[in-house]
Amino acid sequence: MANVRVENLVRKFGAVTALSDVSFDVANGEFLTLLGPSGCGKSTTLAALAGLDRPTSGRICVGERVVFDASAGTFVDAQFRNFGLMFQSYALWPHMTVYKNLDFTLELRRIRGREARDRINEALALVDMESYAERYPGELSGGQQQRVALARTLVYSPEILLLDEPLSNLDAKLRERARIWLGELQRRTGVTTIYVTHDQAEALAMSDKIIVMEAGKIAQIGTPNEIYEKPANVFVADFVGASNLLKADVQSVGSGLPKVRLEGGPVLDLGNETPLPAGPVTLAIRPERIEVVKSGDTPPNRVVAQVVTNSYLGSRYLLVVQIGSQQVRVETSTPLSNDQVELSMPPEALSLYPIG
Ligand code: ATP
Repeated sequence: MANVRVENLVRKFGAVTALSDVSFDVANGEFLTLLGPSGCGKSTTLAALAGLDRPTSGRICVGERVVFDASAGTFVDAQFRNFGLMFQSYALWPHMTVYKNLDFTLELRRIRGREARDRINEALALVDMESYAERYPGELSGGQQQRVALARTLVYSPEILLLDEPLSNLDAKLRERARIWLGELQRRTGVTTIYVTHDQAEALAMSDKIIVMEAGKIAQIGTPNEIYEKPANVFVADFVGASNLLKADVQSVGSGLPKVRLEGGPVLDLGNETPLPAGPVTLAIRPERIEVVKSGDTPPNRVVAQVVTNSYLGSRYLLVVQIGSQQVRVETSTPLSNDQVELSMPPEALSLYPIG
């Protein structure tokens, strides 16, 4: 199971630059997710890895093998890369049984006889579909078809698995289940996996490492925890987990602890974190990191806010509150009946970003 190195990948389509200088490494057995909004270049990156598209410049290596090098004129065709590909439109062959769908894939690779039978049984067992071998795709649910499609990809033991939004055709509930078994399956097989999605929950749940992409560039590379807790910029803070992004001003601090003033509102302590120079900034805080103050408690950065809306979400409440001149979202499990609420915005939950 190889490691992958992508170096300075550029892809231009006429005047459109779909990828500009994209570089990253994927370790052996790692589950890496490319995450970002529509059009940010995820599929273009995957197509370059798969050998389905030839980038304008850059280099891609798998272990010691160079599969693409623009300056040396190297381009290994998709069929010789031995990668497993599964895309949104993973259509199974409808006139073939589940077993035959897998067998045909092996036939194309000249794997026959006992070895073929063993591999098919093993792949179907991996996705829990052994008892469906004789069914036709039309006799399976969407989730079952998806599993068979994945088994068809795994059956020839690909060096690398490339998955482009493979769960997008499933409904929300099935998708959540599929996310869990796909993560488990990847850990069991240990196959190096590169996964494309625009769904941040999926990315956070399954990945060892996430690359957040924005307009053809890498915005951040990190573990799910790093991406969520320490977003590198406003784009990542907003795209992953939807932060409150508030207008604020770092106060000139002198000798005291650094402070920031929310526009038209209170001054907050920043703890020990080194602040940006005095002046306007964007302050990010996650809705679930804002706490409703219980009577008798004296947490830092207490703020009195007016409740604008209060929605019940089943397991928690989503409040929209007015703080100074801005509206702020707060997620809490505490039921509230007042129009006014006392909140705490802990210093360690505040992230500051320069403007522009
Ligand atoms: P989505 O989540 O919608 O699939 P994506 O992040 O996978 O989006 P890409 O498909 O990689 O995005 O596209 C990146 C950019 O390159 C987009 O602006 C897209 O319009 C452009 N693009 C992709 N393929 C082509 C092409 N063949 N010709 C021209 N522009 C293209």
